[in-house]
Amino acid sequence: MKSIIERIKQNKFWSFHGGIHPPEQKHITSDKPIRQLPLPKMLILPLQQHIGRQGELLVKEGDNVLKGQALTQASNPMEVPVHAPTSGKITAIKKSPIAHPSGMSELCLFIAVDGEDTWRTRTVCQDFTLLNNQQIISKIANAGIAGMGGAGFPTHIKVNTKSDINFLIINAVECEPYISSDDLLMREHSSEILEGIKILDQLLNPAFILIGIEDNKPQAIKILKQATKSLEKIHVCILPTKYPSGGEKQLIKLLTGKEIASGTLPIHSGIVVQNVATCFAISDAVINDIPLIHRVVTVTGQALAEPQNVWALLGTPVNYLLEQTGFTHHEGNNPLSTSPVPPVIMGGPMMGFSILNEQVPIVKTSNCILAPSKIEMPSAFDGNSNEVECIRCGQCADVCPSQLLPQEMQWSAKAKDHQQLIKLNLFDCIDCGACAYVCPSQIPLVQYYRVAKAEIRQQQQLDLKAEKAKERFEARKLRLAREKIAREEKHKKAAAARKAAMNKKTPEAGAAKSAVAAALARVKAKKATDATNVKPQETSTVPKETSTKIEAASNETQDEKSQVKAAIARAKAKRLAKSKTNKLAVSNSEEINNEKTDRCEDSPERKQNKHSSSDDKKAKIAAAVAKAKAKAKAKAAEKSQGLEVANPMNEQSKTINANTDTVKVDDKKARIAAAIAKAKAKMKTAEKLQASTSITENNNEEIK
Ligand code: SF4
Ligand code: SF4
Repeated sequence: MKSIIERIKQNKFWSFHGGIHPPEQKHITSDKPIRQLPLPKMLILPLQQHIGRQGELLVKEGDNVLKGQALTQASNPMEVPVHAPTSGKITAIKKSPIAHPSGMSELCLFIAVDGEDTWRTRTVCQDFTLLNNQQIISKIANAGIAGMGGAGFPTHIKVNTKSDINFLIINAVECEPYISSDDLLMREHSSEILEGIKILDQLLNPAFILIGIEDNKPQAIKILKQATKSLEKIHVCILPTKYPSGGEKQLIKLLTGKEIASGTLPIHSGIVVQNVATCFAISDAVINDIPLIHRVVTVTGQALAEPQNVWALLGTPVNYLLEQTGFTHHEGNNPLSTSPVPPVIMGGPMMGFSILNEQVPIVKTSNCILAPSKIEMPSAFDGNSNEVECIRCGQCADVCPSQLLPQEMQWSAKAKDHQQLIKLNLFDCIDCGACAYVCPSQIPLVQYYRVAKAEIRQQQQLDLKAEKAKERFEARKLRLAREKIAREEKHKKAAAARKAAMNKKTPEAGAAKSAVAAALARVKAKKATDATNVKPQETSTVPKETSTKIEAASNETQDEKSQVKAAIARAKAKRLAKSKTNKLAVSNSEEINNEKTDRCEDSPERKQNKHSSSDDKKAKIAAAVAKAKAKAKAKAAEKSQGLEVANPMNEQSKTINANTDTVKVDDKKARIAAAIAKAKAKMKTAEKLQASTSITENNNEEIK
């Protein structure tokens, strides 16, 4: 390190590869003081003006806000708040075009300026050396400071490091043509810049502080040397003018001779680089409690009547700055003119980009608005590309400060070969435009690189999202598996504990066993009940219609059975009635009447029994005839007996008695024969009924 400082003291510096010397054009604005502009009527504040994420909104439409009031808050280190640049009313929160090469839109706050410029309450810090590092970092973060040299990296992250810092480098190079905002800031606000450097010194405690400035800013060099002459730690390093000496890696190489390898950061080499405008903002924030709400902007170009550096509130539309500096649209607005609308470039001629909408606002990283004339920058007016095929001259590689292969990157970019672009270290390209500047084929090389970088970043974000989704899926799967294993273990342990408890010969164990047995019995009983309660329509595969038919047929069969049973009952009743009847004739008469009645009935079983009833009737008639004969014989015998009593002759009486005995025997035989015939008839009737019942039952079974 000492050798480095020795070289610096002797004004000897290193050099970086490549570089160019374009016309500086800084004189257009560098000889005029920074101008304070009247308040614009409307401010458009993008919520994100830095590398990272936008903060959470603290206001809503219709809110009145004060100057310096926080409009968003950070809940993440990569979030940086934005503040109201002046007092007014939030009239809209919506998407609006922002300063971006693609003309993209972002969420913006629209503030109708009230013209009062009323500050919120501020707390001025009289002595920042009494603050600890965390308090200082917190003030820087709350002030919404992000790198003002163009990168827009959150400053509170960059200065919050525990690494040993060898060099704190203050970038005052401002190498881009036309731009003189830092030059004027150093000339007019050197004391504030120096306070900012001292705050950084307290935070980082570097071994040396090097202020790198190009030799084309003699007034600023003189002022800085004067301001720092008593501070041995600080060295003002006057560098030869060469573009792009202001690149971070290029400046480190120039001042320390160190190469920052691809994919590494300066902090890894013990180096922190801050822009002079950022030092000014740090001083304002820590000492004066002023958040980052304005900055110096070079509004330049020969299309302006009064090009000048101005203090521009963040959110000021570009067209307001152009109006204030005499931009008349003279070429584009003349209906007789064949020239297109004159271009407006945000940034310098090397790294800037044309803005498609002059309503886009100034943000924390905007340092220049360039409105060139056609004579000054004819290529900017030519809508048609003059690009021709690469002739492989190699001049682009010669001037590339990052030692890349611009022509090869161009081919890969056109072929959208992202893998090859990454191999060619596309992301080491600092978009300096030196290659395009020297290209004889007029290939807009930087445009190809920007598009390719955007595509690769987008793809990387998609890949990252997919990877995170995959990780979440795998983590969930693992969690579910773990939970399942834990559940099984728990159940096993519980079962083992229950078993052990039941195996103990204690009253409690007995009770537990009984309880388990009772529970098992309940489960079995429930299963059995469930099995029997299963409804036919739930288990049967028979269609519902068929099932209904079967049910109807079954009902009919049941009816028939009932009828048969009723018939049997009636037959029994008849038999009983017959048995009670002593007179055969009356009985026969009743039976005949019954038969007549039966014939009149349409009962099916009666029809079936017709034949059997006929047989029965014959038997009964035969029995009745036999009975009648027997009775007649008996009467005759009684008459004979009566004669015997009137004539008491013994022989005759004996004969009569003998005849009477014969008659009695015959009568008995007749009665027996009648009883046998009747019994046979009954048996036949019963068999017929039995057969009829069997047929009906068989029919029922078939239907089932
Ligand atoms: S400078 Fe242009 S023409 Fe020459 S090699 Fe590079 S890209 Fe090709
Ligand atoms: S724009 Fe990129 S490739 Fe071209 S010279 Fe600059 S750093 Fe090299």
